[in-house]
Amino acid sequence: MIPLKDSQLFRDRAYIDGGWRDADSRKTFEVTNPATGEVIGTVPDMGGAETRRAIEAAERALKSWAAKTAKERANVVRRWFELMMENQDDLALLLTTEQGKPLAEAKGEVAYAASFLEWFGEEAKRVYGDTIPQHQPDKRIVVIKQPIGVVACITPWNFPLAMVTRKAGPAIVAGCTVVLKPAEQTPYSALALAELAERAGLPKGVLNVITGDPPAIGKELTASPIVRKLSFTGSTEIGKLLMAQCAGTVKKMSLELGGNAPFIVFDDADLDAAADGAIVSKYRNTGQTCVCANRFLVQDKVYDAFAAKLVERVKALKVGRGTDAGVSQGPLIDRQGLAKVEAHVQDAVAKGARIAVGGKRHALGGTFFEPTVLTGVNTRMAVAREETFGPVAPLFRFHTEDEAIQIANDTEFGLAAYFYGRDIGRVWRVAEALEFGIVGINTGLISTAEAPFGGVKESGIGREGSKYGLEEFLEVKYLCMGGIQEPSQFPSGPMWRGRDLGQASASVLASALVASGFAAIAVEVIAAGLRGLFPGLTG
Ligand code: ADP
Repeated sequence: MIPLKDSQLFRDRAYIDGGWRDADSRKTFEVTNPATGEVIGTVPDMGGAETRRAIEAAERALKSWAAKTAKERANVVRRWFELMMENQDDLALLLTTEQGKPLAEAKGEVAYAASFLEWFGEEAKRVYGDTIPQHQPDKRIVVIKQPIGVVACITPWNFPLAMVTRKAGPAIVAGCTVVLKPAEQTPYSALALAELAERAGLPKGVLNVITGDPPAIGKELTASPIVRKLSFTGSTEIGKLLMAQCAGTVKKMSLELGGNAPFIVFDDADLDAAADGAIVSKYRNTGQTCVCANRFLVQDKVYDAFAAKLVERVKALKVGRGTDAGVSQGPLIDRQGLAKVEAHVQDAVAKGARIAVGGKRHALGGTFFEPTVLTGVNTRMAVAREETFGPVAPLFRFHTEDEAIQIANDTEFGLAAYFYGRDIGRVWRVAEALEFGIVGINTGLISTAEAPFGGVKESGIGREGSKYGLEEFLEVKYLCMGGIQEPSQFPSGPMWRGRDLGQASASVLASALVASGFAAIAVEVIAAGLRGLFPGLTG
């Protein structure tokens, strides 16, 4: 048992249509603590049938949820945000137990995840449309924005809370309803969020959380014509598969996929700041973030000095269970993750790289790996091409600005890039030349609810966070309003004849009445004529 202050936050059944449900088959699967290998509990092993019911529940809830005012929706989501913060300790402990990250980082993730609910709740009140100058005198052009409908969200294990709120938050405040499938490694965080959403007053069916077989659930979510949008964060491989599956129903998609972030250190950089930024960018979440620096490109003149500063900081990192005091590096998520990190280090060493620190499995065993720095790395090594997703910093050497840009962009990915330097001309040139969706300049930390997060090339489609992230859940509708001519300009076609006559006779009669001093009656007669012209007019 996880020692939570509020034991009701540990939910081990799926949440569909406002109720906690088992799989039809009653089957479950185990969730383990990556720091100890111990089984934390089980959750339902659901498939297509349960997913269909969740989609139908979301569809039933859609109309009344979308009809609420933005303020009404925001009030519920604001309460959800507050409940997250009130339960920060419990949510963090749950997160660390199933994911492995240090408790301090987990607390940070709770606040970061909650910030999406707060920010999007506020922003939803500003979903403005447009009026556009007309192209013809008798027309008016108006643009309104409407919720896209039922949204499917598939989230990864590396940020079990933040990836949920970054998707479900904007979807729900926009007036959409959601079917969410969290990663099988970390379902408890998502289920705790559903519990808090219910407490906050979210009506049944607006948020549904299903656990189980990823391909079966994914097939149902992508094939369903009811689901109008899929928001996915995960591997490029699965993103491509889901994109193909969504083609059948032409769904709108947001994809946050893999990265291969360069971290460039120019020779005029503040090396201490660069080394601090490198630690944040590379070793946060034990190197398991999609915006983690994956390739360190260091200019020849400062290569050795930067390497020394980085190694000194890496040596100070404390590896251990996330719940132990002072730990800054937790375990890797699973054996597969560990095997990849190990293979990348071995490949680099076999091709001539040197291990400056770390380089092997940690003495703690399990999936713990030593924080590692590799020097003498070149572009023939696997670390140059693939995302390591672990605590390994490979240092490449470069000589010129053009060479750095060329190496940085030489990847099919384009999520985040970082560089350190002070020359203002170079800062602009490099920022503009990097083919990435996010560029951190003299900083290693770039994620925030206010800014657009997302990639180019094979790193994905769409943006999360910020006003751009809200647009992802809205459809633009253009209303073309015709027939707005001046009364004297009405054409005499059959469509208008009846109203022209009505209006003409009304004004003739009105003139006669005014002439006879019946002014009050004249006003009534004019109003009656106008009502004939505009049937909706009541005032
Ligand atoms: P990782 O390799 O980092 O676990 P994945 O892309 O496999 O990344 O997983 C990200 C999310 O995608 C998880 O929620 C996972 O369950 C889900 N997923 C994996 N395979 C499929 C699939 N075939 N259809 C739908 N979702 C999937």
